[in-house]
Amino acid sequence: MKMEVLTVDSLPLVQPGDNIAQMICENTVLEEGDIVVIASTIVAKAEGRIFTLENIVPGELALSLGKKGGRDPRLVQAVLDRSYECLVGYPIMLMQSKSAHVCINAGIDDSNVEDGKLVELPEDPDASACRIGEEIEKLSGKNVSVIITDTNGRAFRIGQTGVAIGVYHIKPLRDWKGTHDLFGMELKISEEAVVDEIAAAANLLMGEGDGGCPVVIVRGLNFHTDQKVTITDLYRPDDEDVVKKALRSFKQV
Ligand code: GDP
Ligand code: MN
Ligand code: MN
Repeated sequence: MKMEVLTVDSLPLVQPGDNIAQMICENTVLEEGDIVVIASTIVAKAEGRIFTLENIVPGELALSLGKKGGRDPRLVQAVLDRSYECLVGYPIMLMQSKSAHVCINAGIDDSNVEDGKLVELPEDPDASACRIGEEIEKLSGKNVSVIITDTNGRAFRIGQTGVAIGVYHIKPLRDWKGTHDLFGMELKISEEAVVDEIAAAANLLMGEGDGGCPVVIVRGLNFHTDQKVTITDLYRPDDEDVVKKALRSFKQV
C-alpha cells in the first residue's frame, strides 16, 4: 500500500476575497480522487474573517474571566461572542464554537496574520469546504475531496495535531463494525476518524510557522464519496459525552 502527501508550493499571502480554489488549481495538477487539505487560516482570511480588539467592549463575564485567566478581557469577549458554550473558562478557555467544534479560544488565533490582527474560524467550515471543493472540481475537471483543518491541542496529551473541521466529498468516519479481526472476532465498536488522521498527516508538511504551506494534497487513498457529508458526524452527541458532562458539573464561570 502507498499514499502520497504533497505540498502545493508558491501560494501567496491570502487576502480577503481571494479565490482559494483558483489559487490551488493554478499551482498544482490534481488527479482523480485527490484529497485537498486546506488550513482553516487561509479559508478564514479569504472569507475576510480577520478582526482587531479595537472597539470590543468586554462585558461582566469577560472582565471576570480575563482577570482570573490573566488575559485581555476584549479577547475573552471576542471568544465568548463566537462560542455556543464555555466548557472551561480559565486558566484556558475551552469553548464549543458556534459550528459545534470544541477547541481553545473558539479557534481565534493570532499567528500567521499581521501584527495586531486576529483570525477566526470559518463560520460554517463544511459549507466552505463544499464551496471550494465544487469550484476545484469545476476548474480541474477532477473529482476531489476537501478537508479544512485547524491545529488543536488534545486533552490528556502534550502537543498539538491537525484535526478536520470541515469536509467535502469524504466521509469523516470509516466504519469497521461488522468486519472481523485476525482471529475472526467481529468488531463491534471500531470507527476510525479518517479525516482527522489525514489532517494530522497534512499538518506534518504544513507546520505551524512561516513555512507558507497551507495546502497539502493527499493522494492514493480511496475515500471519495459523491454524497453530502458533514464534520458533525465526528462530534459526540451531547447526551452521550461524559467528558462534557463532567466539565459542566465542574464549571468555573
Ligand atoms: P491553522 O493550522 O489553520 O491555524 O494554520 P497555521 O497558522 O498553522 O498555518 C499553516 C500553514 O499555512 C503554515 O505553513 C503557514 O505558514 C501557512 N500559511 C498561513 N497563512 C498563509 C497565507 O496567507 N499564505 C501562505 N502561502 N501560507 C500561509
Ligand atoms: Mn488555527
Ligand atoms: Mn496550524
